[in-house]
Parts: sequence; structure tokens; C-alpha cells
Amino acid sequence: MTVREGSLEAPTRHPIDWKGDDFYNEESCFKEMERVFDICHGCRRCVSLCNSFPRLFDLIDEGPTGEMDGVPKEKYWEVVDQCYLCDVCYMTKCPYVPPHPWNLDFPHLMLRAKAIQFKKGTPTKFRDTTLSNTAANGKLASIPIVVQTVNALSKNKTARALGEKMIGVHKDAWLPSFAGKTFEKSAAKSAALPVKDGAKTAGKVAIYSTCYVNWNEPGIGHDLVKVLEHNQIPYIVVEKQACCGMPKLELGDLESVEQLARQNLPVLAKLAREGYAIMTPIPSCTLMFKQEIPLMFPNDADAQAVKAAMVDPFEYFVNRHKDGLLKTDFKQGLGNVSYHIACHLRVQNVGQKTREMLEMVPDTAVNTVERCSGHAGTWGVKKEFHEIAMKIGRPVFRQMAEHPKANGGQGGEPDVVASDCQLAGHHIEQGMAGKADGKVAHPLSLLARAYGY
Ligand code: SF4
Ligand code: SF4
Repeated sequence: MTVREGSLEAPTRHPIDWKGDDFYNEESCFKEMERVFDICHGCRRCVSLCNSFPRLFDLIDEGPTGEMDGVPKEKYWEVVDQCYLCDVCYMTKCPYVPPHPWNLDFPHLMLRAKAIQFKKGTPTKFRDTTLSNTAANGKLASIPIVVQTVNALSKNKTARALGEKMIGVHKDAWLPSFAGKTFEKSAAKSAALPVKDGAKTAGKVAIYSTCYVNWNEPGIGHDLVKVLEHNQIPYIVVEKQACCGMPKLELGDLESVEQLARQNLPVLAKLAREGYAIMTPIPSCTLMFKQEIPLMFPNDADAQAVKAAMVDPFEYFVNRHKDGLLKTDFKQGLGNVSYHIACHLRVQNVGQKTREMLEMVPDTAVNTVERCSGHAGTWGVKKEFHEIAMKIGRPVFRQMAEHPKANGGQGGEPDVVASDCQLAGHHIEQGMAGKADGKVAHPLSLLARAYGY
């Protein structure tokens, strides 16, 4: 059979068969890795995306045969460890994804390998599991008095050096502070407004606030609320929400993903069926409900209902504008905005909606950078990966620092630095070494600012 080079059809995604008999079979996973790695060896398109591919190609090139048969199987784990499941290789580069007969899904193969690894246990399991318990960490760290101590320790050099030695969190990696009052507890109640559905947008919004906004930066949630109120869109904050499960997915801890999904899905599906658009201010959480959970539970009606209702805030606002229902009475220009598109938003295939929205604000020039920052959730703070995370982000740090003269910009340094993923925003701030200090603002905060708040 002649196999066409690359596929011309839109990529499709197979469900993740994580409850199937073969999923945790290490030998069969190795066989699939060997097949896929060999195709990648012949292709090498993804060499600049992350460190998984350079590691794979080095293993092949430095081996005795220069081919896959020269790479010992135990070395495959080095490729797996470098993948942080950004999904960019699948969604933006690979011509061999289904429906192409080669049926290649590099990220989900890495996920399978991570799941096997997690079941077997690794020396860093305690650290990895602790970092991924985002809600439990938030609950503990935001107890009054504890919160000040935790925040002070995360900025203290001696404590950080000790933390690196004892638990493997890199001493120089940016770590978030914890807020004294969570978003869920401090969010203003929506005014009783009429629901105006548009052709493309639901007229009422349920905010799934996310662990990060709830425990670490509630201000982003408050800014989202201001934008909704300004546009007369009634909203509620989803109650008793659990973590979306992305930090657990990235570890391959699929049982924990299921536990969290079982808590979230009934609540969110009820809201979806009541006609709410469900909005999350962090793209990784949106992606979890739009893609990974529905693929893990393809026959679950709740997962499919939530998938259909879940929306990125800027996708919603741009569509609301198309519906003629978004105000554009901006009071303040934003100046030179260096804007980074987070990978987990890029792979949602909704286009550059944040850029489109920010460009509607007068006296605003947006410099858009579409490349991985290297932060990748908890991956970039780990001792063994932080330096690679900074290296991956270097082109982003450079491009964010030089605001071009194009698109109405004046050139020079940016006035604000923004990423849809606020963790990436802070990682970029660190990488820009002083050029972005005090300039990081989430795009939702920028939109609220533009409306005059
Ligand atoms: S999913 Fe992202 S991190 Fe993983 S191999 Fe692909 S590009 Fe690299
Ligand atoms: S994932 Fe696809 S595009 Fe990337 S190196 Fe492998 S075969 Fe090539």
C-alpha cells in the first residue's frame, strides 16, 4: 500500500482507552513507542518544540546504529519525562495524526507511558503528588497566619534552597503566593439581570474559577466579574468545585483524574443543561473539560454536555461581539501589550481570540508571541526540569521584550506583559530578567482596565 505523506484531512482524536486491557501493558507500550519514535526519527519536524524530541534524536544519533534499534528501551523514559503534554506537536505540527493511517498521537502515547510509570512509582512520586494536589495545598496554605508564613518562605532564599534539597522544587523557580481570601468566598454576587442569549453565545455564565484563581490570584476572577457586569451578563460562581485534574493528568495519575471528574461533572453538567456558558480563566482547565475528560469518558453524557458548554472567556467575548451584545465603550488604551498565547489555548483551535479582543481597544498595540514558554504547569518548577524550562522559554522572553513598531506600536519595551496562562506570565516575567517587573497582567485584567476599572 502506498501511504500518502501527511494528511490533508482535519485531525481527529481517538478516545483514551485507559480502562482497556492493554493500556497498562508495559511491553505493548514500549512497542508502540518504538514504532512512533521511528516515524519521528524520519521526520524530525518537532525538534524545536520541547525537549522530548531533541532527547529522542540524541539517543538515536548517539547510539551504535544511528537508528531506533540502537536505543535501549529503558532510555525511552528519558523522552517521556521531558514531555509535559502541551499537545502542540499533535495539534500544530504532526501530519501523521488520525485519520492518517500511521495513526500517530505522540502526547497521548506519552500520557500512557506516564500512567504506567505512575503506577510503578518513581523516586519523585511524593514531590510530584504533593505539587499536583492544588486544592488541598490551597486549603492548607490559605489558613490565616499559615498564609503569611507560606508566602514568606516561598520568597526566602534559605528556605528555598532547603526546599530544593528536601522536596525537589527548584530554588529559583517562580512560585505563586496564596491569597488571604479565596475568589469563591469573596466574589461579588451578580445583579439580577435579564438573560439575553445571542446566536453564538449563551446569555448567562457559570464561572469555574480554577484552583489558581481561587487560591492564588482571585483578582483575575474579580476582573472577569467586572467585565461580565459591565456587559450586563448575569453570572454565578460554580460552588464546591474540585480541581479540573490537569496536574494529575500530567503525572499520569488517571485514577485521581477520574475521582475529580466524578465530583465536577454532575455539578457542571447540570449548569450546562440549564443553558449556562461555563467559563474558566485558565486555558489548561478549559482544555481538560473540552478535550481530555471527554476523551477519557467518551460515553459519559455529563462529560459531553460539559464539553459543549465550556468556553474560553475571550472566545466568548469575541462571539458576544459578533452577536452585537458586547460593549466597546473602552475608557483606557493599554499601550504596548506583549501577549503570549498559552499552548493549552492554542490547541483548543479557537483562533487568536484574546488578541482579537485586545486589538479592539483603542491606543493598544498587541505583539503576539505564539510559542511555548516552557513553564508547563508544575513541570517547570521541578529541580530537574527548571533550567530546561527556562531554555525552552528563551525565544519567548526575547520576543516579549522587543515590542515591534508594526500594528500601531511605537517599538521599544512593552507596557504590559500578558499570557492567557498566568503561571506562564510569571515564568516569562522571570525569564525577561527585570524587563517585565510589575508589568504582568492577565488579559482579563487588561480588559477590565480598558473598560475603566
Ligand atoms: S505534547 Fe508538547 S511537550 Fe509533549 S512531546 Fe508534544 S510538544 Fe513536546
Ligand atoms: S510528532 Fe509527528 S511531526 Fe512531530 S516529529 Fe513525530 S512524526 Fe514528525
